[in-house]
Amino acid sequence: MSKTVSLLGAAALLVAGLSFAAPAPPSLLLTGARVLDPAGERLLDGRDVLIENGRIAAVGAAGTLQGPAGAQRIDLSGLTLIPGLIEMHSHLLLHPYDETPWDDQVLKEPLELRTIRAVVAAKATLEAGFTTVRDLGTEGAGYADVSLRDTIASGMIPGPRVLTSTRALVATGSYGPSGFDPRWDIPKGAQVVDGPVEMRKAVREQIAAGADWIKVYADYRRRPGITTPTFTQEEMAAAVDEARSAGLPVAAHAYTPEGIRRAILAGVATIEHGTGVTDELLALMKQKGVALVPTLAASEAVSRYAGWKPGEPEPQRVREAREMFARALKSGVTIANGSDVGVFAHGKNARELELMVAYGMPPGQALRAATITAAAVLRRDKDLGRIAPGYLADLVAVKGDPLADVSVLEQPVAVVKDGRVALNRR
Ligand SMILES: [Zn+2]
Repeated sequence: MSKTVSLLGAAALLVAGLSFAAPAPPSLLLTGARVLDPAGERLLDGRDVLIENGRIAAVGAAGTLQGPAGAQRIDLSGLTLIPGLIEMHSHLLLHPYDETPWDDQVLKEPLELRTIRAVVAAKATLEAGFTTVRDLGTEGAGYADVSLRDTIASGMIPGPRVLTSTRALVATGSYGPSGFDPRWDIPKGAQVVDGPVEMRKAVREQIAAGADWIKVYADYRRRPGITTPTFTQEEMAAAVDEARSAGLPVAAHAYTPEGIRRAILAGVATIEHGTGVTDELLALMKQKGVALVPTLAASEAVSRYAGWKPGEPEPQRVREAREMFARALKSGVTIANGSDVGVFAHGKNARELELMVAYGMPPGQALRAATITAAAVLRRDKDLGRIAPGYLADLVAVKGDPLADVSVLEQPVAVVKDGRVALNRR
């Protein structure tokens, strides 16, 4: 008991000690690019963007803006400038399962190794043009995401702005690693809680340790091959209510109709994966303002790891994800870009946008799902997701027209985060 208390106290001190912002970067003038308009719907030719104190100060016709003396200038003529991309579902503390199975990452890899890998993953993510990630669980790596977030924010290491959810919450018998002799008490990849009292306590612990979001698993494969709801309605409601008291939203992993239904009724902000969502539940999500994060790229990656090769007949998992996505698109529910990256390689996040387009979403809407729409779901639409004065200077320069072809997002030419140049291949 006292050990728990002192560890949490130390974590709180660490958070307090690192929560200062990095010193303001020098002014930056990006010249001559085609710029995505603030609505994210069309490209404006020949624009300059002036960045001061980490924010967009002005956007004007080429040659009309004058930076202060000593401002850094980068010529972006011939390129397209878009807002920094947002990944709504990452796991920076995981690496691809075809490198190391998930069970082995959770049970065998030292926390230090996992954290160092995450530092490398953070840099790859930023250089891929993803300037903000909502990281949905450390998968057994404790609160390492909080230190990752804070060291990035302090300027110590490069990486995206990280919104943390720390350990995530699961019910007894409802998460991995599993399949061991019941005599053994095997560590889990998330925090195990039962009943509304334990749920509230765990949410409080995670918030105190630095969570920005709370992640709950509304259902899971509790028996081989059979996914069923886990938390009761009462438990889900306790999680959402406790998080709400602290001003935090909740994300729910949910595949089954009943798991999705309980999560929506409890008041979560996002449904992750959502494969089994029905038309009725999509309508309910739309009515209650719950967003869907489809993680299509993870379904594809997991199928690949099971031996499927693109071009071969579609495996069930991919078909179900594609059909779910088509129904979601038709329903008009809010769809935000989130890939479950970590299941596959960090820095390959743009695959999700390519799949959203392949499954029927117009490229412009896919781009907005990773910018304006994602920012709104994160409740950050006043400072993220648009190129407009006052917004944080998170910007990506790409070749070509992402409103016509999102594959141009795979290879950014330049990346700016918080007004600081993170990548410049010019
Ligand atoms: Zn995930």
